[in-house]
Amino acid sequence: MTPAKAYAAASATSPLASLTIPRRDVTDRDVEIEILFCGICHSDLHQVRNEWADAMPTVYPIVPGHEIVGRVTRVGSGVKTHKAGDLVGVGCLVDSDRTCDACTAGLEQFCPNQTLTFGSPDKHLGGVTFGGYSEKLVVDEHFVLRIPETLDPAGAAPLLCAGITTYSPMRHWGVTERKKVGVIGLGGLGHMGVKFADAFGAHVVVFTTSPDKRDDALRLGADEVVVSRNANEMQQHAGSFDFILDTVSARHDVNAYLILLRLDGALTLVGAPPKPLEVSAFSLIMGRRRLAGSNIGGIAETQEMLHFCGEHGIAADVEVIAIQSVNDAYERLLKSDVKYRFSIDMASLKSEQPRDTVQAHVRVG
Ligand code: NAP
Ligand code: ZN
Repeated sequence: MTPAKAYAAASATSPLASLTIPRRDVTDRDVEIEILFCGICHSDLHQVRNEWADAMPTVYPIVPGHEIVGRVTRVGSGVKTHKAGDLVGVGCLVDSDRTCDACTAGLEQFCPNQTLTFGSPDKHLGGVTFGGYSEKLVVDEHFVLRIPETLDPAGAAPLLCAGITTYSPMRHWGVTERKKVGVIGLGGLGHMGVKFADAFGAHVVVFTTSPDKRDDALRLGADEVVVSRNANEMQQHAGSFDFILDTVSARHDVNAYLILLRLDGALTLVGAPPKPLEVSAFSLIMGRRRLAGSNIGGIAETQEMLHFCGEHGIAADVEVIAIQSVNDAYERLLKSDVKYRFSIDMASLKSEQPRDTVQAHVRVG
C-alpha cells in the first residue's frame, strides 16, 4: 500500500479539501496510473452532497472522480494489454464479477456485483473505493482503456463518463443518418451527445434553458436550438422526434418532451435527478412512445467509443482548472455555467500538503 494525495469531502456540507488516501500495491493483474486529468461529472456533485441518499447513500470521506486519464507507471507481471508509458483512461467501473449474464455480454455496467471507481466497497483495502481527484490509481487491467494519443488528454478525460453515457444509448436506439434526434440540456453529457449525434449523421435539435448557449450548440453540431421555456418553439416540434436523450440533472417536466416524439419514438433518461419525475400516461399511450434509461456503457463499448473519437477527432470542450478551484466549479455546475466540462489538471495537486490521512481498513477475502 502506498499513500496518494487526493481531494475529498468529509460530509455532505463540507467543501472538498486535500487528504492522503491509501492505494493498493500492484497485483499481477493491476495497472498503476499517474492521473493527469480528471473531469468533473454532475454525478460527483450529486454524491458529494449525498443527493442520491435514497438510491445510493454516500460514505464519507468521499474522493469523487470517474473521468480519469493518465499515464501507466507500472504494471503487474500478468498484465498483457498495457505497459508503462501508455496513455490510458478509467471510467466509472473498476471491477465486476465477470461471470453474470451482463458481464458475459460485455455489459459490465449492469453487473449486480460491480465495483464503482468511488464509493463502492473496496475488496483489496476495505472501506470504500476512492476516485480520480487524486494523483494516482491502481486498477485491474480489464477496466483500463486505451486513449488515442492524438486526443488532447484534458478533453479526452470526460469521454470516460460523459462520452460513453451519450454514445451508448444513441448506438442502442439506432441514432443514424436522417433520424431526428433531440438532446435536452447542454452541459457535460449534453454537449457530447450533440457531437455524437452529429457524427452519426442525425438531424440534431438541442433543448436548452440557457438562450446564451444557442451559438455554441450550433458550433458543436446542432442543426436547430429550442429554448425549452418557450412553448411556441416547443410546439413546432410536436410528434416529430425519433429519439430524445434527456441529460438534465434536476427536476423538470419530462412530458413536455415525450409529446415531441413521433410514433414509437423513445426518450432515454441519462440524467439522474434526485427526486422522481412525474409521467402522464397520455404522454406515452398516444403514439406508443417509450420512456427508457441508460447507464454509462460496457468496457468493450467504451473502447469502441474511444476509437471512434480518435478517428473523428472528438473530445470534450473543457475548462481546465486547478484542483484548488473544485469547490467554485461545483457552484458553477449548479448554475449550468460550464463550457462544457471542467477537467482538473492533477499537476495542481502536487503543491498540496494534506494534514489528514485515511488509513486502509482490514484487508478482506
Ligand atoms: P451538467 O454539466 O450540470 O449538465 C446538466 C444540464 O442540464 C445543464 O447544463 C442545463 O443545460 C440542464 N439543466 C440543469 N438544471 C436544469 C433544470 N432545472 N431544468 C432544465 N434543465 C436543466 O451535468 P452532467 O455532468 O452533464 O450530468 C447530467 C446528469 O446526468 C446528472 O444528473 C448526472 O448525475 C447524470 N449522469 C448519468 C449518467 C448515467 O450513466 N446515466 C452518467 C453521468 C452522469 P441547459 O443550460 O442547456 O438547460
Ligand atoms: Zn459521470
